[in-house]
Amino acid sequence: MKFLSTRGKSVAPNAAYAIAKGLAEDGGLFVPETFPYLGDKIKEMTETEYAERAGLVIGSFLNEYDEKELLSACVRAYGKFEDGDAAPLVKTDDGFFILELFHGPTLAFKDVALTLLPYLMRKGSDICGIKEQILILVATSGDTGKAALEGFKDAEGIKIMVFYPTGGVSDMQKLQMCTQEGDNVNVVAVNGNFDDCQTAVKNIFSSAKINAELKEKGVILSSANSINFGRLVPQITYYFSAYADLVSSGEINIGDEINFVVPTGNFGNILAGYYAKKMGLPVGKLICASNSNNVLTEFFVSGDYDANREFFKTMSPSMDILVSSNLERLLFEVSGRNAELTASRMAELKKYGKYSVNKEELASLKKEFYADCADEEECLEEINEFFEEYGYVLDPHTAVAACVAEKYKEYSGDGRVTVVLSTASPYKFPQNVLKAISGENISDAFKSAKRLYENTACPIPEEILSLKNKEKRFSEAVDKSGTESAVLAFADKK
Ligand SMILES: *Cc1c(COP(=O)(O)O)cnc(C)c1O
Repeated sequence: MKFLSTRGKSVAPNAAYAIAKGLAEDGGLFVPETFPYLGDKIKEMTETEYAERAGLVIGSFLNEYDEKELLSACVRAYGKFEDGDAAPLVKTDDGFFILELFHGPTLAFKDVALTLLPYLMRKGSDICGIKEQILILVATSGDTGKAALEGFKDAEGIKIMVFYPTGGVSDMQKLQMCTQEGDNVNVVAVNGNFDDCQTAVKNIFSSAKINAELKEKGVILSSANSINFGRLVPQITYYFSAYADLVSSGEINIGDEINFVVPTGNFGNILAGYYAKKMGLPVGKLICASNSNNVLTEFFVSGDYDANREFFKTMSPSMDILVSSNLERLLFEVSGRNAELTASRMAELKKYGKYSVNKEELASLKKEFYADCADEEECLEEINEFFEEYGYVLDPHTAVAACVAEKYKEYSGDGRVTVVLSTASPYKFPQNVLKAISGENISDAFKSAKRLYENTACPIPEEILSLKNKEKRFSEAVDKSGTESAVLAFADKK
């Protein structure tokens, strides 16, 4: 299948190329030329395991990958999750379901894509005959960095470099990254926020000068952020998987519409749900949940995207984003695949920090999406009440989504089955979760985790316990202007 750029000036002959490259040459994002229809495969999925569902969904876009080999890669990737299930569904109350996406190696939903991406990329570059070494640059708001490091560590012919915002990630997230093992990895703090990291990385991608310098060294750049289609496509699977599980357990009948509530930052996760709907999954509303950085809430209400606003550091750092990259893919679709218009909106965003969609576009967005937000106080309250009521411990990101799910239900009276996507283990943010549940303020992450366990009996994952004794390998910090030279230096390192 051919892939188009959202900005209209590049094409990829197939998914392999789109994944190996990451970003289109014109600065746009690759999107599939068409969406394969899988609405008639749902029944079949009720009878298969997660890895097989993934093989089916991913394979429908990746026609040039060998089907059997792709399936074994999925079996390997999802074998790294507890019980081989990347997306177990937990029922907490009538009509309220939690899709737990955090049982992978690094305890965040990013693992669903990043346990598989190394295979997709390695294979993709082989299919395209790319001979250079691939250097993956990642800007992280906390979870992508670790999941990508773990996925790509010691991958053959690939190096990976992660940039995270100083002070913009949780203690556990930082520890997870700075203790990363592997000979092909590097982690650097950037003095700034996530948007600064993301902009710095995007500028490096589009710099002809750096790309030429790297080419001379036999290196090309690629991305493991959700701007890479290879990150999005594995995420489509769990929307189908959740639906199939609800059918299997008799909660719904095939054809019934269900809603998904998604804690949103860079708009990758929820976009995968929108793609699933385009592929024939019966989805009612996609509900976009934001924290105090509620630029998306405003966008879906007014049609105006305006990133000129105060940036808040919240207890859900992976959603502390003002410029959501993947919204570009949605704009492309909602404009009737108008690349010229999408490109001009992205140019406005870059120049003025804002753009607007027209009335018709806004109306069609409102048909598919609902958006709301929860501030810090609401988030703490939600964690507390959810534990009191259901004995279930939410991480702060999932709590934002759960809070918005309740607000939506109250406002709309929508009685359809609603699935809340749970994106991280509470033990990645133990201080805040503990504070919410017991009122205790303990600054040490491990002591907080221990107290959280004593309060809730929610088991502490091995990945967290093992962090305590790991050697810290990375401590470099640079200013935004220092990212380029850091990349060049790492490219030279043997
Ligand atoms: C990345 C992340 C999000 C946001 O997902 P997007 O795809 O960027 O919208 C939400 N919660 C957690 C825990 C995350 O790691």
